[in-house]
Amino acid sequence: MANDMRDVRDMRGESHHAARAFSVRQSSTSSRIIGAYGGYRKTLTFGYVCLIYHATTLFCRRNYDYKNDALGKTTGQMVGAARSARQNIVEGSSRSGTSKETELRLYDVAKASLEELAGDYEAFLVDAGVAPWSPSDPRHSSLSSLVIDPYGGPLSRHDYGEYILEMRNRFAPHLEAEDPIVAANSLLIVIDRACGLLHKQMLAIGDAFTEEGGFTERLSRVRLAARDAKDAVAAPECPDCGGPMRKMVARKGRNAGKPFWSCCDYPHCNGTRPFVRAG
Ligand SMILES: [Zn+2]
Repeated sequence: MANDMRDVRDMRGESHHAARAFSVRQSSTSSRIIGAYGGYRKTLTFGYVCLIYHATTLFCRRNYDYKNDALGKTTGQMVGAARSARQNIVEGSSRSGTSKETELRLYDVAKASLEELAGDYEAFLVDAGVAPWSPSDPRHSSLSSLVIDPYGGPLSRHDYGEYILEMRNRFAPHLEAEDPIVAANSLLIVIDRACGLLHKQMLAIGDAFTEEGGFTERLSRVRLAARDAKDAVAAPECPDCGGPMRKMVARKGRNAGKPFWSCCDYPHCNGTRPFVRAG
């Protein structure tokens, strides 16, 4: 539990850092509209899901031979579920900038895929005649204290690949154990951890959405702010009496619907000036 809490705190800090890195290439206005996106490589969730994917392909290759799974159905479903979790996080993250709703929906699919995969490992263990380890099992707790490092390197395929290989090595004695009982149990623990992280990530996105709004809300907010800034020119003096003027909209005549400056002392003073929009 303590590890999970640390994971989430790290993850939030990292996403923030990733958002900054990505928005460097955007102009300030477009980044305010589009928002931050694509920071998935900086989250621990994605790191764990990568480890789960690689360990699952290995597990299937070793433990489901042609005789037991002639059509490759079980293998295909397990590798497919692990792949779906990975791909939906990538896609969700890339949609993060424009639609928090889509991002949430895709993370939800990723989480469901992980849960489906956990079901397959659970069934594998029961088929083999053993129950999954209980949390008080020393083998369970030895893996519980093992965590992946937060990724702080450059957002390049090469550097991230090096990082994942290092993390894979760290977890290999558990996730890629020759003994399928150890491997399946270890995968269940790491899948639960990834699901927990993903769930907390989704809650955080929901909070941010409520606070800042989505794409449409941001677009209109930026547009309104830009318009207000243009209108905030100092009101001119009345050409007739020298008093203050205020912006009005003509109700009739050939200028109907158009703004103009009117003397604040109207109807005592009929002074007007044309309204020229700044910028
Ligand atoms: Zn006047």
